[in-house]
Amino acid sequence: MVMRNKNLAKLQAGYLFPEITRRKNEFLSANPGVDLISLGIGDTAGPLIPVITDALVKASEAMGTNDGYYGYGDERGIPELRSAIVDTWYKGLIEADDIFVNDGAKPDTGRLQVLFGNEAHLAVQDPSYPVYVDSAVILGQTGEYDSGSEGFDEITYMPCTVENEFFPDYTKVPHGSLIFFCSPNNPTGAVANHDQLRDLVSFAKLNKSIIIFDAAYSRFIQDSNLPRSIYEIEGAKEVAIEVNSFSKPFGFTGLRLGWTIVPKELKFEDGSPVAKDYSRIITTIFNGASIIVQKGALAAFTDSGLQQMQDQISLTMENARIIKTALNNLGYSTYGGVNAPYIWTKIEGMNSWEAFDRVMEEANIVCTPGSGFGPSGEGFIRFSAFGKRQSVLEAVVRLKDLM
Ligand code: PLP
Repeated sequence: MVMRNKNLAKLQAGYLFPEITRRKNEFLSANPGVDLISLGIGDTAGPLIPVITDALVKASEAMGTNDGYYGYGDERGIPELRSAIVDTWYKGLIEADDIFVNDGAKPDTGRLQVLFGNEAHLAVQDPSYPVYVDSAVILGQTGEYDSGSEGFDEITYMPCTVENEFFPDYTKVPHGSLIFFCSPNNPTGAVANHDQLRDLVSFAKLNKSIIIFDAAYSRFIQDSNLPRSIYEIEGAKEVAIEVNSFSKPFGFTGLRLGWTIVPKELKFEDGSPVAKDYSRIITTIFNGASIIVQKGALAAFTDSGLQQMQDQISLTMENARIIKTALNNLGYSTYGGVNAPYIWTKIEGMNSWEAFDRVMEEANIVCTPGSGFGPSGEGFIRFSAFGKRQSVLEAVVRLKDLM
């Protein structure tokens, strides 16, 4: 028989969200009829906005006509969409030909790991979005799991804690590393400011490292003084790749669309352009995102599309404010939830899964255990603001049952 990929066996306890679903189902079969409110997974709160669904219908119909049919297209995405992304959000920072449109930030994170191969050294914020570590584990980049430190021995974990205000000390990152950095951060809700990113970019330059900057939540930043892209920092094009997504701002979690920016200025150690190899990866194992979905996204970059997006984001951020205020009023310290749709908190004296179980059993709310995001997440839980307003209001009433 074919041998199992030995790296898959190293993944810790399966992926976080299937484990949450397992516990939820177990709870529901023991407590039939209980109506659980999910403030767990960061899925979007509402349906797609009309300007997008209209464009999706038109694009689908066009595929049935001789003139409107598209077969294989430009693997990097339709030029109009790449230009719209740059004109709307990256004017003067990058160029349209630096963009690779894809089927979402998560799959592209996996493809980026393929690009750098299994000898790349990884540094991650701890806690962090699990995909960075798990996709590296599958590729064999990470070494063995060390149950003592609760981490992989060939990854540099950069703790993000209350004490360092969730901005890590990166100075011990080995020379020539890939530094995964997510801002606004999932799960802590922290956002790095210009000075912090400037220092990180300078460090990456000196340290000959590449930053993979995950900006999937950048549109949720409310404070106009905070950076929404790593390319707002001078010199970042020489040291950073940015991944981003239509999932969270436009509700594309089911449609699947994102983009990755690999600037032409970014070079490998041998001086060859990273974008050239990335293009090779894309044309070899991907072939480009759905034309229909790209046309839907293009429609979102009209004045009314952007306004509708803003309205959805405002709703989500108001949810975040409601949850955060309720937790604070109950005496919990909270982090995030101001420029990010996640609220990070802890129940003193409990580990993350104990806190998760307690919130589910006593308040009938599903949150996410912080330990699933890395060793420094232990003790924390994450609440997502991506819920319907009615559920959020009901959830904050139920939270009182925790006391
Ligand atoms: N990056 C971060 C930090 C996320 O939290 C998520 C999804 O939760 C993604 C990327 C995935 O985005 P996409 O739906 O585009 O794959």
